Amino acid sequence: MIIDIERIPEEGLHIDRDFELENSELVEEEAILLEPLHAELDLRKKGEEIYIKGKIHTVVSFICSRCLSPFEFLVDSEFDLVYLPEELFEIKEELTDDDLDLFFYFQNQLNIREIVLEQLNLSFPMKPLCSPDCQGICPICGQVIKEGNCRCVRESTDPRLEKLKIFIKR
Ligand SMILES: [Zn+2]
Ligand SMILES: [Zn+2]
Repeated sequence: MIIDIERIPEEGLHIDRDFELENSELVEEEAILLEPLHAELDLRKKGEEIYIKGKIHTVVSFICSRCLSPFEFLVDSEFDLVYLPEELFEIKEELTDDDLDLFFYFQNQLNIREIVLEQLNLSFPMKPLCSPDCQGICPICGQVIKEGNCRCVRESTDPRLEKLKIFIKR
C-alpha cells in the first residue's frame, strides 16, 4: 500500500485495514503471526512533514527464550511518527526531537505496509518470555519446570533457608 504524499488531502487521511505479512518479515526468527496485522492510521500533512498517529493490533506466537515453549503475545501498540522528505535526511542529527521519532520518505511516497511492519517489529520484546517469572528448563531432567513433571530436588530459594545458611556458616 503506497500513498502519494501529494494525494493526502488537507483534512488528512484515515486508514483502517488489515495487512497480510509474512512470518519471514518479522525480526524475531521463530515468531509466527496468528492473525493479520490490523492497523489504524491517521495521516496529516503540514507542509512537507507527514504526521502519523497510529495503532496496530495482532497476535504473535513466540518461543519463550527460557523454557522454549511457544506462547501467544498480544500486540497492541500505539505510535506517533513524523516523516520528513528525503532532502532533510542529511541534516537528521540537527532535527532530532526527543518526543518524536523521525523517519524519512523517499520519492514523495509513503509505504504504509513497511511502516506498520516496522512498528510491529519495534513492539516485540528483546527477549520473549512466556511469563516474567518463567523458570525455564530443569538442568537435571530437561523438562519444562512450570509443567510440573519435574520432580528433581533443586536448590531451594526459600528466604528462610537462606538465612539459615548464613547462620550455619558462622
Ligand atoms: Zn517460559
Ligand atoms: Zn527436573
